[in-house]
Amino acid sequence: MTSTTTFWRRIVAVLIVALAAAQAQAEEGPAMVAQQVSASAWYVEGVSALGSPANQNFISNAAFVVTPAGVVVIDALGSPALAERLVAEIRKVTPKPITHVIVTHYHADHIYGLQTFKALGARIIAHGEAREYLNSETARLRLEASRQELAPWVNADTHLVEADEWIEGDKDLTIGGVQFKLKQVGPSHTPEDMVIYLPSEKVLFAGDLVFRSRIPYVGKADSRHWIAALDALLRFDAKIIVPGHGPLSREAQKDMKLTRDYLAYLRTTMEKAAKNLDPFEEAYAATDWSEFEHLPLFRVANRMNAYNTYLLLEEEVK
Ligand SMILES: [Zn+2]
Repeated sequence: MTSTTTFWRRIVAVLIVALAAAQAQAEEGPAMVAQQVSASAWYVEGVSALGSPANQNFISNAAFVVTPAGVVVIDALGSPALAERLVAEIRKVTPKPITHVIVTHYHADHIYGLQTFKALGARIIAHGEAREYLNSETARLRLEASRQELAPWVNADTHLVEADEWIEGDKDLTIGGVQFKLKQVGPSHTPEDMVIYLPSEKVLFAGDLVFRSRIPYVGKADSRHWIAALDALLRFDAKIIVPGHGPLSREAQKDMKLTRDYLAYLRTTMEKAAKNLDPFEEAYAATDWSEFEHLPLFRVANRMNAYNTYLLLEEEVK
């Protein structure tokens, strides 16, 4: 009898602790912990999900590099509150001022935190190709929708932030004696894609251009340019990739090749179908996917990727 009572007391105690933890998580959002990438670089990793009030839109990664002159942040996360949490993580590593934010591309989950860094006096740097989107009705409507879907994390105070410096082409920046190579790689995932390479530590901040050991979402991307961009990135001697989503990779070359080979395979197979005027369903069923079908997200993404590529190639071969 006594031992049974003790047993149930323990169960209840465990449940209370678990409930309290769950509630704390709901209020605070997913955990954010800066992980060290190399001697002077860190990153925080968003959750693998769609943006929601529960995750505060923490669905993408951000990184920072500590230089002797100050901190360079790469991407600003998906809400001002997340950006504040990132600032708190940076403060655990260094008291140095945050002097720059470099934006890989202007998708909502990478930029809604920009205003936090701007208020701290950071200089925002992005590729000039983003200006068209930033001033478009699409961007305005997207923010409007996010204010509804992601409230209170994205709200009436959240606004789109222009860069202080719009880059054209490539640019080498030296900040506090540390070299950053900014490389234009759009139009690929977006028109304004830019990657940042830190040659001193062989770290590549790849935005949404490289996916680690998984199938990318191709969407309306320009896969021909994307492949060319990956070929250009493979010429960097990168050892580590910090992607825009998901865990970092210490198999930089392998992951870049996988993304490139997958995109190339989609194009080769769908080009043949588009040229022969084969219906998509038939072409898809006749394609040998065995090289890629074991990869995460194959089931959810491959068919749509193939279909989008088929449509793209139909236009290209006309
Ligand atoms: Zn993204």
